[in-house]
Amino acid sequence: MLFAAEPLAPTLDSARRVLKKYYGYDSFRPMQEDIIQSILSGRDTVVLMPTGGGKSVCFQVPAVVSEGVCVVVSPLIALMKDQVEALKANGISAAYINSSIGQSEQNAICSDCANGYLKLLYVSPEKLLSPGFLQFLQRLRVSMFAIDEAHCISSWGHDFRPEYTQLRVLRDQFPNTPIIALTATADRLTQRDIQKQLRLHEPQVFLSSFDRPNLNLIVRPGQDRVGGILDFIERHPGESGIVYCLSRKQCETLTQKLQAKKIKAGFYHAGMTPNQRAAVQEGFLKDDLQVIVATIAFGMGIDKSNVRWVMHYNLPKNIEGYYQEIGRGGRDGAPATAVLFYSFADVLQLREMLTKENPQLTQLNLTKLERMQQFAEAASCRRKILLHYFGETLAKDCGNCDICRNPPTTFDGSLIAQKALSAVVRMRERAGIGLLIDVLRGMRNQAVLSGGYDQIKTYGAGSDLPYLDWYSYIHQMLNDGLIYIAYEEGYALKITELGREVLQGQRPLALKKFQPAEKAEKPKRGRKAATETTAPVSREAQLYEALRALRKRIADEQNVPPYVIFTDATLQEMANERPVSRMAMLGVSGVGMKKFENYGEVFIKEILAHGGNPAELDDSDDDLPTNLDPDDFSVPAPTRKREAKAEAGSTMDTSFQLHRMGLSLEAIAERRGLTVSTVQTHLTNAYAKGSELRIADFLTPTDLAEIQTAQAQLGGSPMLRDLYDHLREKYDYFKLRLASLYFKKLRGE
Ligand code: ADP
Ligand code: ZN
Repeated sequence: MLFAAEPLAPTLDSARRVLKKYYGYDSFRPMQEDIIQSILSGRDTVVLMPTGGGKSVCFQVPAVVSEGVCVVVSPLIALMKDQVEALKANGISAAYINSSIGQSEQNAICSDCANGYLKLLYVSPEKLLSPGFLQFLQRLRVSMFAIDEAHCISSWGHDFRPEYTQLRVLRDQFPNTPIIALTATADRLTQRDIQKQLRLHEPQVFLSSFDRPNLNLIVRPGQDRVGGILDFIERHPGESGIVYCLSRKQCETLTQKLQAKKIKAGFYHAGMTPNQRAAVQEGFLKDDLQVIVATIAFGMGIDKSNVRWVMHYNLPKNIEGYYQEIGRGGRDGAPATAVLFYSFADVLQLREMLTKENPQLTQLNLTKLERMQQFAEAASCRRKILLHYFGETLAKDCGNCDICRNPPTTFDGSLIAQKALSAVVRMRERAGIGLLIDVLRGMRNQAVLSGGYDQIKTYGAGSDLPYLDWYSYIHQMLNDGLIYIAYEEGYALKITELGREVLQGQRPLALKKFQPAEKAEKPKRGRKAATETTAPVSREAQLYEALRALRKRIADEQNVPPYVIFTDATLQEMANERPVSRMAMLGVSGVGMKKFENYGEVFIKEILAHGGNPAELDDSDDDLPTNLDPDDFSVPAPTRKREAKAEAGSTMDTSFQLHRMGLSLEAIAERRGLTVSTVQTHLTNAYAKGSELRIADFLTPTDLAEIQTAQAQLGGSPMLRDLYDHLREKYDYFKLRLASLYFKKLRGE
């Protein structure tokens, strides 16, 4: 049976096994492990993690290893459906009940619960609190309650849902069942409110870093946004993305422009009917639409993991919103890009909006806008600024933002500043930025001429610099406090005391050289699709495209979103590694037992059709994956192995040589871009085939003696699984397999 209850209290080790077996991941992310430990010890637990941080695993894995059913409260039908689909695809029995589920289906689900078949039951808060439902749960064994999107309980939060406040009854009715509250909101007020309202009992609180290192952060000047967007999409063919706009009208116009270029785009905003919106969302989830152009109404409740880029057509109102929106990119952990188009005109427009919108909050909202503006105009690592906003410090510059990748150089800008400051004064501090630049550059337009500004001494003094350069330098002067904007006087620029000192040459000024956005950012390796216009595409990229197409076909057949089959990150690893044996395929991160059973063979066939990895073809059918439960694999590996064998410049040998040179497993994995488990497989295979391994690197004489004794107790040559259990999970499968081979060799077998 798939879900036999664990005989002993579940351990972290059994949780690790579940992670590998059902999710295909080798290890927990650092905080996940601590969280799971806390949950398994039966404590109430609060988890604050950014979107994409891996919250779901934190309660799903404990649910699988614990006896009984985990009841998950979730506010959105779309989210429940997504999570349940993903769980089932991994071979974990789960279901959801909400208003969209009919009575007879509900009954069937309830009886599955009563039979102990379901490990996770997702319910809406309304359903949970509906008459009789809690009593029904009382009769079951509920392993834990997981409250997803727990910030909905707090009226301080940005997404308050009154029905969530009723969840406080859980503590009365289930005094001994642990409650786990999860949210991507970090703010302290909300966090305390969650604990208080759910009446959590001395909860362990885990506040994970809000860093999302795989997001490449870019800010571009706001000129020619449409051109910039088209250019970006052209260089990232087939990659899913979202463009956020401020207005509905903008959404629709931009969508038309994208469609005119044959890009599969759709728009999404609050002015559409629920059906229209659902259709667009579905199209996006299923990769039928590549691009969604949306107002902020889009995104909540979207679990799509393969969003590869997020763009902001306009400056967002605050950093919270911006961070939440870019967080929808790269949830699978593979690289993703966030591009923000910025122009000062956006700031002015937003200022006006915020001032009218909510008079009581104007000051707060304007301050938040200023922080957003500082981020957009920053000349130092952008990630540092973001994390600092959330109260975190980053020790080093991130290396994955436009500033880090292309650091600005500084120069003595005193002369440039003096020209601008002099013009400000000579225009009697009445002109805004645009007019100032026009005057400096000697333009002859209506505003210049009617003000008589073509007569002043500095007219045309800056004609050697393009508009964008001036724009950047004037903003730097604003940020440095040489000038300020008098909003109440039509945004006129005024000079400050500091500005006068610079103007009079009493103080030098360093400026950062203006760098236009890189036009020709190199296409990402392995992601580029075949287009007629580009140079020959790498084999790896071709295979990646083929695997994506295969994933899409399967997803359509099964009527699920493609990322439920495999994530982009998993497909990318397949394209790089070309696994064609069962063992190698199971070594790919994200390929668990169930997915291997369902899709392993077809994906291996596709890889073989593209040449496969010759060295992997050598793996024997009955080889076991080193760190998996050997009894759980029933699908025969493909059998075309002999054909390609001659080609072999063996990847196994390479790993083995590196081991002989003294590199650790991790170092080999890192150097070769493989997973540790793949390297382990290489080493055990090499060892099985007669190569000499440095056993002492992995097992001490005491370890060997202990394993030998256990083998003897189990009757000589036990299954690895039995050995593993007998030794109470002390040694992983890699070590056990090595030891078994070692003893075999000793016996001369
Ligand atoms: P959240 O709910 O916090 O937004 P998810 O639970 O959806 O995040 O996880 C984000 C992505 O990270 C998913 O694709 C998930 O499968 C993956 N993931 C989670 N934990 C791990 C892990 N330990 N190793 C590798 N990938 C993981
Ligand atoms: Zn940086």
